[in-house]
Amino acid sequence: MESARDKRTGEIVDAEQLWIINPVDPMGYECRGCSAQATPCSYRPENKVRPYFSAKDGHNAGCDVEGEVALVKRARKQRVTIREGFPGSFPNRLVLRDTRPVSSPDGSPTAPSSDGGRRTGSNGSSERCRNRHWAAQTIRPICRTFINYPFDRDLPLVVPGVTADTYQHVFRSLKSDQVIQYPEPRLFYAPISWKASIADDDRLEIQLSYGEWKERKLTRPYRVRMDWTDWSAAKRNYVSREIETARSEYMTAKKRGDKEKGWLFFIGRQDESDSTLFHVDDHRLVCCVVNEVIYP
Ligand SMILES: [Zn+2]
Repeated sequence: MESARDKRTGEIVDAEQLWIINPVDPMGYECRGCSAQATPCSYRPENKVRPYFSAKDGHNAGCDVEGEVALVKRARKQRVTIREGFPGSFPNRLVLRDTRPVSSPDGSPTAPSSDGGRRTGSNGSSERCRNRHWAAQTIRPICRTFINYPFDRDLPLVVPGVTADTYQHVFRSLKSDQVIQYPEPRLFYAPISWKASIADDDRLEIQLSYGEWKERKLTRPYRVRMDWTDWSAAKRNYVSREIETARSEYMTAKKRGDKEKGWLFFIGRQDESDSTLFHVDDHRLVCCVVNEVIYP
């Protein structure tokens, strides 16, 4: 499982957050669909694959997290929303705690999750009351939902500082062949260029494969910069590991002959004097997912 509920806070944690949670409580998580015990796995520094949660004793009856793999498989080919609604659960908002949202022009504070409370129901009927909508604490589960359900992007989504309310409109691909000034903040994405990223004491800068081309050469690529002078070692490590892990996932996919790319997703501020440059101020507002982005 890519996410689980923290038993103590009731919040849903994506597994990659285990890179930054210290210490990790091996008994502290449960399935967000059925409250079965969810064991954190592969989060230690020596682990090469992404962290995940495992329901070692299985899920309880009717758990929609368990059915998600099959649902996503179907959803990548066709719309799965029916008249009664969307058949799975999904993050419908980003909630950043303890900090202001980045690039929010109106500075509106993020509301605390109203339904983060833990459900303890374990039979069929009370399972139906569980939350179908949940609050993401990083952009990652939102980006996965965008990728996994290409024909259902009219699902509602609230992201602080972004004035759009569906997946379709919150996300925006950068222009593949042009550098432009984007009029409004969005959750931007573009393929990552694995060759050129710069990491030093002051910043991490990631180059993207979109931008301005001349004679078939990318001459002015978009770049995403994290000025991380004030970031803790844990936060720097969290972002660096994400990129490194995605890079090795990409290499594996390439060996298999898959069409998957590494996509960098971020919420950032476009530089006023250099339109190729975006600044990201928060480690939760950037992620890299290796997958194929489908456009219906
Ligand atoms: Zn479950």
